[in-house]
Amino acid sequence: MERRDFVKKAALGAAAGTLLAGCGNNAAEGGAPAIQTGGPRLRWRLASSFTRSLDTIFGAADVLAERVNQLTGGRFTIRVYPGNEIVPAFEVLEGVQKGAVQMGHTASYYYIGKNPALAFDCTVPFGLTARQYNAWAYHGGGLELTRELFADFNIINFPGGNTGTQMGGWFNREINSLGDLRGLTMRIPGIGGRVMDELGVSVQQIPGGEIYPALERGAIDAAEWVGPYDDEKLGFHQVVKHYYYPGWWEPGPNLSVYVNQDAWASLPVDYQYALEAAAAESNMYMLSRYDAQNPAALQRLLAEGVQFHPFPNDVMQAASETATALLEEEASDPGYSKIYNAYKQWRTDAYRWFGTAEQSYAAFAFGTAEEECALAPG
Ligand code: CA
Repeated sequence: MERRDFVKKAALGAAAGTLLAGCGNNAAEGGAPAIQTGGPRLRWRLASSFTRSLDTIFGAADVLAERVNQLTGGRFTIRVYPGNEIVPAFEVLEGVQKGAVQMGHTASYYYIGKNPALAFDCTVPFGLTARQYNAWAYHGGGLELTRELFADFNIINFPGGNTGTQMGGWFNREINSLGDLRGLTMRIPGIGGRVMDELGVSVQQIPGGEIYPALERGAIDAAEWVGPYDDEKLGFHQVVKHYYYPGWWEPGPNLSVYVNQDAWASLPVDYQYALEAAAAESNMYMLSRYDAQNPAALQRLLAEGVQFHPFPNDVMQAASETATALLEEEASDPGYSKIYNAYKQWRTDAYRWFGTAEQSYAAFAFGTAEEECALAPG
């Protein structure tokens, strides 16, 4: 063998070894190799459930696409489409399942009509916070359990963002007790919507981009979306002024990246690594960006005269009891109970830990928007 050929083959072998190891140790042997996959040129489509103007929840998919492009030397491009552009906002799962698009970015609780256990891939009322969810997914067996569910839909799922604990939404009147919920019409999805229905609320499912007009024309009395940053963008404060917290139905909703299983299996292994790493980055991007944007948005909403209120105790108590009863209802199904029991145990243990250092620190150190409302002149 010519020496030149040998060197070339050795270099290729080292590069392949690095890629297969995910993160190789070639740096110790004389510097990390440049990323040169030589793989196929692929152009995929990703359907988001979200509207482009919501730069954080929508933007996480752009972050993923850009990073995959960079990690594959520009060979693997993913074009991100907003909700309703090529796939209806609430039908991303079907779109990916059938291969109409290779990928999706969505909230799995939109699909609980297909399988109630899909909620555990996103959030359930009085469930895990963002940190607790990530711990469960990445280190507590959660991701393996949700992937078993998604295998039935020919999808492989990845955590792909989190909003953190959401707000409890906008109401056109004060909610001073449980009775004040009765007869309201509210936009609220998932099992949280089912709980509200049990509490006497007339529940509507409306994509994020269509909430404002419904609120403005009085078709709904109340609506929830995410938190100060997004809700301000959607303009709810221009129509109603009572902003409640917490969003007990979404203590830490995970947004998911879906990949069609056949499309995934067709990828070179280094592209799979790139996609997996980029999804993890989008997960971090969304949560940290919401946490960075919400404080200033909260201040702006206070300045606009928005009234922040905690939900009354009887609402929290009734919601908690109703949510538990609803979650237990499905427990006779073995597939559901397998993931539900694992989730419940993880939650119990996580709450005990978070109720210790985290909670005592928060109770001492954190202020509330309601205190600022009380301090505001007038
Ligand atoms: Ca929400």
